[in-house]
Amino acid sequence: MAVIGWIGLGHMGGPMAAHLVEAGHEVVGFDVDPGMAERAAATGVQVVQDAAAAVRDADAVFTSLPRSEHSREVLIGGPDERIGLFAIVRPDALVLDTSTVDVDTSRACHDAAASRGIRFVDAPVSGGIAGAHAGSLTFMLGGEQDATGEAAALVEPMAGHVFIVGGPTSGIAAKLANNLMLFITLQASSEGARLAEALGLDPTVFHDIATVSSGDSWPLRTWYPVPGVVPTSPANRNFDATFTTRLAEKDLSYALEAGDAAGLDLAAGRLAMERFTRLIDEGYGDLDCSLVVKYVGRDGRTPGFDPDATG
Ligand code: NAD
Repeated sequence: MAVIGWIGLGHMGGPMAAHLVEAGHEVVGFDVDPGMAERAAATGVQVVQDAAAAVRDADAVFTSLPRSEHSREVLIGGPDERIGLFAIVRPDALVLDTSTVDVDTSRACHDAAASRGIRFVDAPVSGGIAGAHAGSLTFMLGGEQDATGEAAALVEPMAGHVFIVGGPTSGIAAKLANNLMLFITLQASSEGARLAEALGLDPTVFHDIATVSSGDSWPLRTWYPVPGVVPTSPANRNFDATFTTRLAEKDLSYALEAGDAAGLDLAAGRLAMERFTRLIDEGYGDLDCSLVVKYVGRDGRTPGFDPDATG
């Protein structure tokens, strides 16, 4: 069993770290938010007062942080000469970033780790908060072969599927390309659902047809944006978030940046981005990203959404 340092015990990191405790590892964790740290302590994580104390003696270190800039600052170091964790971890430690970051940040982390001889793996996840609690996340691992092999064994207690994708940044590349498709198919299922309804179809009958036909997709099956059809749909709960618009906007912005850098025209992705930005501008950044369905109606309304009843 290993000693594991865990930085960022939030909605994903907290339950993920708990699975490593259950698997018998000694997990030493830190979060800048004392409330999140306290929740993790209740699951058996040994909470310490700073990140350095969490990682100094660790065999492996995980990070689960909000955005690219947090991963850079925590791992590489801050502009105010704050020391990053690569300067603190044991030289033989394996470091895994499970955060969704942009490709440049992931590359910078690989380079900074390699310059110190530290093994680093980009290890983003898919499956959401529910998958983090259930221990059924999909892990996409990118890095040198010996590092990704060891990482694959280590993430097993948190995972439903583990992919060793390839070399440095290939895990994050898979994650960003996957989420680009998710957000585009979200637009498609929104438009199909509203068109079917406008043409007089029973939403459950249409959903049954589409899920076994060529219009099928993950958002169609999981987030069908009409109340009362799919139990997991945010439309049943006034679009309370399962995946916030803010998080969707972040992930998609990284995918679009990567597309721009590669000289691609990701037009459907840009449309999805414009819709997420609009939701955020209207004050709905903390609601579910499937609320984009409201822009299908020219009046900005959609069944199951009462703007006056949002928390
Ligand atoms: P979150 O905001 O709940 O958790 C991040 C945690 O990091 C917070 O508790 C925050 O206090 C902590 N933190 C921030 N800066 C820190 C620092 N310098 N040192 C220590 N702790 C610090 O976010 P989340 O939903 O748990 O997401 C974490 C990562 O996982 C993100 O990169 C996100 O894109 C990715 N992700 C999230 C989901 C999801 O559905 N929530 C799904 C897949 C991937």
